[in-house]
Amino acid sequence: MEPVLNYINGNFVRAASGFTLDTVNPATNTVITQVARSDATDVATATQAARQAATAWGATTMEERIVWLERIADALESEAETIAQLESLDTGKPISLARRVDAARSVDNFRFFASHAKGHQDPMFSDHGAVNHVHRSPVGVVGLITPWNLPLYLLSWKVAPALLMGNTIVAKPSELTPLTANFLAKTLHKVGLPPGVFNLVHGYGPEVGQAIVEHPDVRGISFTGGTATGKLVAATAAPMFKKLSLELGGKNATVVLDDAPLDEIMEGLVRASFTNSGQVCLCGSRILVDASIYDSFVAKFVAAVEDLRIGDPLDEATQMGSVISQDHKTKVESYIQLGIAEGGTVLTGGLSEEAPVTGVPAEGAYLRPTVLAELSASSRTATEEIFGPVVTLHAFSNEDEAVEMANLTAYGLAGSVWTADTERGHAFAKRMETGIVWVNTWLNRDLRTPFGGVKQSGVGREGGDWSMAFFSEMTNVCIQLP
Ligand code: NAD
Repeated sequence: MEPVLNYINGNFVRAASGFTLDTVNPATNTVITQVARSDATDVATATQAARQAATAWGATTMEERIVWLERIADALESEAETIAQLESLDTGKPISLARRVDAARSVDNFRFFASHAKGHQDPMFSDHGAVNHVHRSPVGVVGLITPWNLPLYLLSWKVAPALLMGNTIVAKPSELTPLTANFLAKTLHKVGLPPGVFNLVHGYGPEVGQAIVEHPDVRGISFTGGTATGKLVAATAAPMFKKLSLELGGKNATVVLDDAPLDEIMEGLVRASFTNSGQVCLCGSRILVDASIYDSFVAKFVAAVEDLRIGDPLDEATQMGSVISQDHKTKVESYIQLGIAEGGTVLTGGLSEEAPVTGVPAEGAYLRPTVLAELSASSRTATEEIFGPVVTLHAFSNEDEAVEMANLTAYGLAGSVWTADTERGHAFAKRMETGIVWVNTWLNRDLRTPFGGVKQSGVGREGGDWSMAFFSEMTNVCIQLP
């Protein structure tokens, strides 16, 4: 595959230093290609290009930008299979998942924001003989920094509303998954987006991400990634009073109430636990089950987990591929070891040495889906983000205890409640300290709704009107009527 270059001011260019890094297929541990390893010099060039493009792009009308978004959606849609293949190669995720979730949603993100903005009117208020007109302008140059688990899905979730609201962009994808961001840059180039409106700088977080956050001309930062990195981003951006949106880590509870129809919901529970090898920030990684149904739940859940087909990501039948890297596999396994040290019992899965995945390359970053029981709900294994195919099971004796257990972690991103009684589920959901709760479903997303976390899972909301508000500045013009 061709090397991956930066995209700056409408040109594909090497890092100024000439340095590169490798992007690796984690399912085989082989190098796919070399990627520009950029630094603050490249960020400065990209930011300057974005600044120069900002005036003309910001002066286009919303209607014109809606047409651009539709054009981009069409161009991506016609290459959906390429996107899915690239994403599967770079992340080790099953091709079926990459098609259904990554490629489809990347197209939808552009399509959704184009349609959401149609007919949008800024509010007007009249009082005291005056009319107040709320005028929106772009923030200016915005920095978009994204992680590796849903690479183009999350990047396009930021690029679409940023462009819509008239901003110009300096983006940085994860160094682990640059392929689809590069494909997006090629697509934007192909559809003729003006030079400098979208700039892409590849490289490591401390060398490129940090430089984007530090750059005084980047006026807003939308960051999705881990909580520890989010703290650094916040500490750097806050003294410059930049607009900041932080979508961070999670440790989400899946709550199974005593009336839940176990056979019906089992597939949903397994999906909520192990989609993308558990590497979705919204995955439920601590399952809280009413004690009266705990034994029956454990038997059904473990059997369903053991039915998951793990294997070659490019095999159509594969349901779970590898994790993102050998380093990440080591981190996840360290948590399995911690779980055992904290008194947990492995019900299925476990360390790859003891429970290897068969029929896959030995060098691949594979792990079996792992279920741990008998851990305290306040143990480190049950409260720290693992971000891999590991869940812990905990029994509760009443709803108050379940609420307490669900809210035990420092995070507050998502959760789900499973019950035969939707009103009961709704009431329970309102007691959970999270940004999103699903009742009897998971990852069911209406893109108009607010998305984001509380506590250490982030600050701010994205989605629909919230993204439009984040990517714009509002001026209230108060006009005294004659
Ligand atoms: P990460 O924090 O390591 O990296 C995220 C991005 O930040 C990468 O592009 C990285 O290069 C960059 N980065 C690293 N150091 C930086 C710095 N000092 N300044 C600026 N940028 C820097 O996260 P990750 O390992 O790529 O992704 C996994 C994490 O992302 C998990 O914690 C997961 O929960 C979280 N996540 C959250 C959401 C959400 O919507 N809340 C969605 C997906 C993933």
